[in-house]
Amino acid sequence: MKCREVVELMTDYLEGALTAPDRERFEQHIVGCDGCRAYLQQLRLTLRAMRSVEGVPIPDRVQTELVRAFRNWRSASR
Ligand SMILES: [Zn+2]
Repeated sequence: MKCREVVELMTDYLEGALTAPDRERFEQHIVGCDGCRAYLQQLRLTLRAMRSVEGVPIPDRVQTELVRAFRNWRSASR
Protein backbone atom coordinates (compact mmCIF):
# COMPACT_ATOMS: atom_id res chain seq x y z
CA MET A 1 0.00 0.00 0.00
CA LYS A 2 1.31 3.43 -0.95
CA CYS A 3 1.27 6.52 1.25
CA ARG A 4 -1.39 8.09 -0.95
CA GLU A 5 -3.72 5.12 -0.48
CA VAL A 6 -3.08 5.11 3.25
CA VAL A 7 -3.96 8.79 3.51
CA GLU A 8 -7.16 8.26 1.58
CA LEU A 9 -8.20 5.43 3.89
CA MET A 10 -7.35 7.25 7.11
CA THR A 11 -10.76 8.64 7.95
CA ASP A 12 -12.36 5.29 7.20
CA TYR A 13 -9.79 3.63 9.40
CA LEU A 14 -10.49 6.00 12.28
CA GLU A 15 -14.20 5.38 11.89
CA GLY A 16 -13.72 1.62 11.82
CA ALA A 17 -15.11 1.46 8.30
CA LEU A 18 -12.30 -0.55 6.67
CA THR A 19 -12.63 -4.22 5.84
CA ALA A 20 -10.35 -6.51 7.83
CA PRO A 21 -7.84 -7.06 4.96
CA ASP A 22 -7.65 -3.33 4.25
CA ARG A 23 -7.17 -2.55 7.91
CA GLU A 24 -4.36 -5.06 8.11
CA ARG A 25 -2.56 -3.59 5.10
CA PHE A 26 -3.15 -0.12 6.48
CA GLU A 27 -1.64 -0.98 9.85
CA GLN A 28 1.33 -2.71 8.25
CA HIS A 29 2.12 0.50 6.38
CA ILE A 30 1.59 2.71 9.42
CA VAL A 31 4.01 0.65 11.48
CA GLY A 32 6.78 1.12 8.93
CA CYS A 33 6.14 4.70 7.84
CA ASP A 34 6.93 7.60 10.16
CA GLY A 35 5.23 10.17 7.94
CA CYS A 36 1.91 8.36 7.80
CA ARG A 37 2.02 7.52 11.48
CA ALA A 38 2.52 11.17 12.38
CA TYR A 39 -0.21 12.18 9.99
CA LEU A 40 -2.62 9.62 11.39
CA GLN A 41 -1.99 10.98 14.86
CA GLN A 42 -2.61 14.51 13.68
CA LEU A 43 -5.77 13.52 11.81
CA ARG A 44 -7.11 11.67 14.84
CA LEU A 45 -6.65 14.76 17.01
CA THR A 46 -8.20 16.96 14.35
CA LEU A 47 -11.24 14.74 13.98
CA ARG A 48 -11.71 14.58 17.72
CA ALA A 49 -11.45 18.35 18.07
CA MET A 50 -13.91 18.96 15.26
CA ARG A 51 -16.41 16.46 16.59
CA SER A 52 -16.29 17.94 20.05
CA VAL A 53 -16.98 21.39 18.62
CA GLU A 54 -19.59 20.61 16.01
CA GLY A 55 -20.80 17.13 16.83
CA VAL A 56 -21.10 16.32 13.13
CA PRO A 57 -19.16 14.07 10.74
CA ILE A 58 -16.22 15.56 8.86
CA PRO A 59 -17.34 17.04 5.54
CA ASP A 60 -15.64 15.59 2.45
CA ARG A 61 -14.26 19.03 1.68
CA VAL A 62 -12.28 19.07 4.90
CA GLN A 63 -10.92 15.59 4.29
CA THR A 64 -9.83 16.64 0.82
CA GLU A 65 -8.03 19.64 2.27
CA LEU A 66 -6.22 17.42 4.75
CA VAL A 67 -5.17 15.00 2.03
CA ARG A 68 -3.90 17.87 -0.10
CA ALA A 69 -1.97 19.34 2.80
CA PHE A 70 -0.41 15.98 3.48
CA ARG A 71 0.64 15.51 -0.16
CA ASN A 72 2.24 18.93 -0.18
CA TRP A 73 4.04 18.07 2.99
CA ARG A 74 5.28 14.78 1.57
CA SER A 75 6.61 16.35 -1.61
CA ALA A 76 8.19 19.22 0.32
CA SER A 77 9.99 16.82 2.65
CA ARG A 78 11.72 14.98 -0.19
ZN1 LIG B 1 3.41 6.19 4.32
